[in-house]
Amino acid sequence: MTKERVIIVGSGISGCMAALRLMADYDVTIITKGYKEESNSMLAQGGVAAAVSKSDTPKKHFSDTIQAGCFHNKVLAVNQLVTCGPAIIQKLIDEGMTFDKKDGEFSLGLEGAHRLPRILHTGGDQTGKYLTTFLQAQLTNIDWQEEQMAIEIIKHKEVAIGVHCLDKENQLHTYYGEHIILASGGLGQLFPVTTNAPTISGDGLAMAYRAGAKLTDMEFIQFHPTLLFLNGRCHGLISEAVRGEDARIVRADGSAVMAGVHPLADLAPRDIVAATLFEEIERGNAIFLDITEVTHFEERFPAITASLHAYQVPFRETKRIPVHPGAHFLMGGIRTDLHGKTNIPGLYAIGEVANAGVHGANRLASNSLLETLVFGEKVAEYIHTQKPNPKKYPLISRASSTKTPHLPNKQLLQEKIWETLGITRKPEKIAELLHWLGDFDYANNTRETAELSHMIITAKLIAESALKRTESLGAHRILKGVTK
Ligand SMILES: Cc1cc2nc3c(=O)[nH]c(=O)nc-3n(C[C@H](O)[C@H](O)[C@H](O)COP(=O)(O)OP(=O)(O)OC[C@H]3O[C@@H](n4cnc5c(N)ncnc54)[C@H](O)[C@@H]3O)c2cc1C
Repeated sequence: MTKERVIIVGSGISGCMAALRLMADYDVTIITKGYKEESNSMLAQGGVAAAVSKSDTPKKHFSDTIQAGCFHNKVLAVNQLVTCGPAIIQKLIDEGMTFDKKDGEFSLGLEGAHRLPRILHTGGDQTGKYLTTFLQAQLTNIDWQEEQMAIEIIKHKEVAIGVHCLDKENQLHTYYGEHIILASGGLGQLFPVTTNAPTISGDGLAMAYRAGAKLTDMEFIQFHPTLLFLNGRCHGLISEAVRGEDARIVRADGSAVMAGVHPLADLAPRDIVAATLFEEIERGNAIFLDITEVTHFEERFPAITASLHAYQVPFRETKRIPVHPGAHFLMGGIRTDLHGKTNIPGLYAIGEVANAGVHGANRLASNSLLETLVFGEKVAEYIHTQKPNPKKYPLISRASSTKTPHLPNKQLLQEKIWETLGITRKPEKIAELLHWLGDFDYANNTRETAELSHMIITAKLIAESALKRTESLGAHRILKGVTK
């Protein structure tokens, strides 16, 4: 019997998790912009939050999640996350996944705004890499399409039926399926300072918007406080787990930056730490992570240690790492229900590209990997409930133009987005940015023009949402009455 086809856009943990749970019964294709190892999932250092210890409960995890999210979260989505999470992780462990242990018990990390240690990690600070590699190794029956950039969702009679993609030579390829799952991650590359992988530039968000999907909460972008900062440039993340192991944020004179700012000091919610550091930097202060009190730093954080060595940071001598905040995670995204369904029949969204309401206005650390696992499982569960009905679709060509499009320089675009939609925002500047963005064309004749066009659409969506939210909430911080 002909199987139904599932097209998954994105090779991170959410896409791989959905593929794992679908591959026995469906023809699954995973399309990915770069190689399958290129994703934010591969970069995750801290780990996966889940109430697995004897002293923890899903209820406590729920309460920490909604407090960090400023109560803007959707209760049912958070409930699904924290209650289904532990069982889904246990199933992966039964299938062979391992997490770091100490004396026979999970070695659980502590991160910002968690009331107790609940972060499962593996390979020290390489959880994302180990988990993605583990999942990809299980995907024995998948059609992998690497170096294919999805540029457009194809619809027939208002139903999503496929995606148009461009390969490295900008040749068009089209993939049809009964179920189209966007698992294409967030938008970090809209900003010049980011923790995100190079392929993460808002493509899925813009494609979904163009197809008529509803997007919500786009103003809520999490800025991580501690990116490694050298000679005016950022070079990846220094995980919050380092502060969980007693590192402190200090100025050049050694004074503690977070003392007195929040009761949780260095482990305050990320929006608060990032905004405090940004103000310090605006005042001209250099900021460092002081790792004097972190025991066995190099053993616990092997990947961070390797990166510090690669950039020749003399951390062994100084016990200091220079840091700077940067764009990290999108809380908003394509609106979905608890199974990843969007408002377009046949189109689903899971992981960071989606907004099921899990994170509210600010994500609790390490809840994102849990979201990718839970919603990857849930979308597969839903698709399995659908009556199989493999179809033949009419061939639909891509709408493209041959005229040279008017598009901005990428670096200029990123800088304007950082200045306007970064950690603190001024409504009049946002309105100016929207006006400037409105001047550009949409084009998808090459990967380069498609990516720029997607960045512009995504920036417009953030700007429009940011203007509508007239009060500061969570990661959205408005500076009022400043006309500079
Ligand atoms: C440095 C770093 C550290 C982090 N640490 C943690 C942590 O410790 N714990 C935690 O919970 N979260 C962490 N996060 C967040 C978390 O890693 C991500 O939110 C999560 O991995 C997202 O998974 P995903 O499957 O939704 O998307 P991703 O893993 O980002 O994968 C998206 C995929 O889509 C592909 N793609 C994008 N556009 C297209 C296109 N147009 N066509 C085809 N393919 C496309 C990408 O190439 C990629 O393969 C971290 C993030 C970063 C950047």
